[in-house]
Amino acid sequence: MVIASVNPATGELWQSFAALSAAEINLAIKVAEQAFQEYRSTKMAERAEWLAQAAALLLKQKQTYAKLITQEMGKTLVSAIAEVEKCAAVCTYYAEHGADFLADQGVSTDASQSYICYQPLGIILAVMPWNFPFWQVFRFAAPALMAGNVTLLKHASNVPGCGLAIAEIFRQAGFAPGVFQTLLIEGSQVAAVVADPRIKAATLTGSEAAGQSLAIACGRELKKAVLELGGSDPFIVTETADLELAVSTAVKARLLSNGQSCIAAKRFILLEAIAVQVEQMLVEKFRGLKVGDPMAADTDLGPLATPQMVQELKHQVEAAIAAGARLVLGGEVRGNYFPPMILADIPASSAIYAQELFGPVASLYRVADFGTAIALANDSPFGLGASVWTENVVEIRQAISQIEAGAVFINGMVKSDPRLPFGGTKRSGYGRELGEIGIKEFVNLKSVWIK
Ligand code: NAP
Repeated sequence: MVIASVNPATGELWQSFAALSAAEINLAIKVAEQAFQEYRSTKMAERAEWLAQAAALLLKQKQTYAKLITQEMGKTLVSAIAEVEKCAAVCTYYAEHGADFLADQGVSTDASQSYICYQPLGIILAVMPWNFPFWQVFRFAAPALMAGNVTLLKHASNVPGCGLAIAEIFRQAGFAPGVFQTLLIEGSQVAAVVADPRIKAATLTGSEAAGQSLAIACGRELKKAVLELGGSDPFIVTETADLELAVSTAVKARLLSNGQSCIAAKRFILLEAIAVQVEQMLVEKFRGLKVGDPMAADTDLGPLATPQMVQELKHQVEAAIAAGARLVLGGEVRGNYFPPMILADIPASSAIYAQELFGPVASLYRVADFGTAIALANDSPFGLGASVWTENVVEIRQAISQIEAGAVFINGMVKSDPRLPFGGTKRSGYGRELGEIGIKEFVNLKSVWIK
């Protein structure tokens, strides 16, 4: 695949790059290795100051960065601005709390003194997707840098401008050259980078296929990996829910990032008593959405990121209908613009039943009781997030204890938050980002015993 920025709204090529050669990659790793020798002994307070500077730069230039995001991957400018603000928030969060999270922890043993300390690993390779081209990178990089690691970013091939801009933000914020570098390479070059002994660990956010490939490369070298992969999150609505709030949240939760979010609500599981009403409410709200220029302030839904994403989604919808699914709301696909669609009665025997739909298509399911809703929610290869709408405390407890997912949100939409760990179970991956746990994924936890 060629590394190029093509505006999905217009099809215009903005810039393209040749992938780095093996010699250029080797040089970048050398620079990172040298940078680590200095950076590992910088003080927590210094790193916090540079992260705070990065947050300030993001906020100051949020319009510029948001335009870049929209131009490269097509989400609405309004949502791109919110994404940049959230990146500033995660930098601030780790600047304020990183030192406490990584402080030595005393443990009583037979020693005169024993404790746990946390030390950086070295160069961490981050392979990132285009759907939140700033956020995915910052939520990994802020804690990794705060912990004293250095980073090589392999960003998705359709967002090279974002990758380069992020490296520049960290440089301008005060991090030494080499602490954060963007490598313009293709997916097929990742395994060779992982195999380099100077790379200590890797993280990947993306598809199952890419995750498998990285896990194999890391397994071969016995290196740690964190994987944030796909999802097909359930959104359960019961008869005790506030239906107006549930449905307006459902629309937001499905259409975040033009429907291209791992934690988007994808399977709407409706209790029989309210199913018809919710279906009608959803259709009405989907019909009222404005599809168009992502730069315009009143646009709800921009184009999908690439023609490949459009083709894949179109194929999945057609296959679902051929397998017996009911098309509740359809529309015409124009270029990269995919209209919001609703499918229902998807047979469990069809391929799409177990697949992720990465675009603005909602799948509706009806169930007779709450137990069946939970069983259906769990009948998926994925386990990222789940949203459950009920006022019944027994159902709330049941959902929390029985849903197989990395997060359960009750009467709210699944979202990432710097303070809460984020990650999945099953084929959604392993490891966690964010929160206190997130900063401890890429450190050597060292036990110290002194007599
Ligand atoms: P993708 O194709 O897997 O791309 C993600 C990244 O992996 C890109 O940098 C890509 O590089 C790279 N890559 C692709 N094949 C690779 C390989 N064989 N070895 C190493 N790296 C490889 O993902 P996508 O389809 O664009 O993104 C959507 C997927 O990401 C969805 O499944 C979504 O749910 C998931 N996602 C998960 C999370 C989460 O936090 N769990 C968040 C966002 C997205 P190239 O661009 O050069 O191919």
